[in-house]
Amino acid sequence: MSAPFLLPCPFCGGKAYTDRSADCTATPSVGCEDCGTHNVAETMGEAIIKWNARTSRPKTFPERNNHE
Ligand SMILES: [Zn+2]
Repeated sequence: MSAPFLLPCPFCGGKAYTDRSADCTATPSVGCEDCGTHNVAETMGEAIIKWNARTSRPKTFPERNNHE
């Protein structure tokens, strides 16, 4: 199965990734490699839908691109 389509992070525009442990005991989640925000859900499919839905919202936070 090919990798799911993930929109960039809604906060920093960083690369999103799926986090699913090999033993299936961890909660499926979609997160950002850069700022560490993440969505969790009961299934990976749901986590991806929630992530993509959030990234489609208009920005309501100020730009913080210079955070170190
Ligand atoms: Zn981010």
